[in-house]
Amino acid sequence: MILTIVVPCYNEEEVIVEATHQFTLLLNRLIGSGKISQQSSIAYVDDGSKDRTWDLIKGLSESNKFVTGIKLSRNRGHQNAVLAGMMTVTGDAIITIDADLQDDINVIEKMVDEYHHGMDIVYGVRTDRSTDTVFKRNTAQLYYKLLSMFGVDMIYNHADFRLMSRRTIESLRQYSEVNLYLRGIIPLIGFRSTCIEYSRKERFAGSSKYPFKKMLKLAIEGVTSFSVVPLQMITFIGFIVFIASFGILTWVLSVALFTNQAVPGWASTVLPIYFLGGIQILCLGVMGSYLGKIYIESKSRPRYFIENKVGQNDFQDKDEQTSRNKNITI
Ligand code: UDP
Ligand code: MG
Repeated sequence: MILTIVVPCYNEEEVIVEATHQFTLLLNRLIGSGKISQQSSIAYVDDGSKDRTWDLIKGLSESNKFVTGIKLSRNRGHQNAVLAGMMTVTGDAIITIDADLQDDINVIEKMVDEYHHGMDIVYGVRTDRSTDTVFKRNTAQLYYKLLSMFGVDMIYNHADFRLMSRRTIESLRQYSEVNLYLRGIIPLIGFRSTCIEYSRKERFAGSSKYPFKKMLKLAIEGVTSFSVVPLQMITFIGFIVFIASFGILTWVLSVALFTNQAVPGWASTVLPIYFLGGIQILCLGVMGSYLGKIYIESKSRPRYFIENKVGQNDFQDKDEQTSRNKNITI
């Protein structure tokens, strides 16, 4: 089994040499025990770094037979860097891991074992976030809860440390959407998968390349790429305002009929505001739900992947394994 370790790097000059040292030791150990093949490698994806990261990668690739490098044209963000690596490298199994050695690299051996036991996807799951700041821990926690409320199927406390087999990588390739949110998409692919727990360490060196702004962007991406619930909420709000305007109507009528405190002109001014406002938001919501449909359709996500086949091999070729590309007559 050829293993490729994909490592996204953005301004990681302080850690890359140490990371390479540790990955090399690990690969040699795994090759020694016969778990992976000699052709296994480490693929660094330089995400448009502004420091010496790429020069270091080039240098390492000359002195270390395992090291290969991919350079992106500019900084495209962690998710895109990971994806670029996964789509470019070969290998029977691909492990993605951050460069900063926060994720326990000894878990890689367990992931490889799981692969040999027939798993297609092995998720690394953090049990201990004590090294993250309180703020990061709590916002992350809240975010996972919010996502599950919105109906997004995600692995709790899993970042992008995972092993994927060749066929799951090929399945992933068929998601054509531009704004790809890997942590949400990969569980949708299916196949046999499992989780391995580990505790997350301190960053080896340097500072986090995920400032709050980038975190927020990733979080919004997660919600809007998977859920039309925010759009449906507009319909709900419109409906509530609409109903409330009837409540106000009853109140206005009772004031006018049973007391002598009615202010002339108040009801005829205020009531239509609520009433029309309610109808307008409701209409927006209805339009939103159609927009939501178009939005989901425009992604043209593949509908299924075939995991296994038995019997005679009179099967269609590879393109037919997914429902996309088929002519659907309406
Ligand atoms: N990274 C990247 N592009 C970016 C930001 C980060 O490729 O625009 C890489 C970074 O080099 C690291 C990984 O993504 O290997 C995770 O980043 P970091 O450790 O800074 O995030 P944190 O652990 O603080 O969430
Ligand atoms: Mg990190």
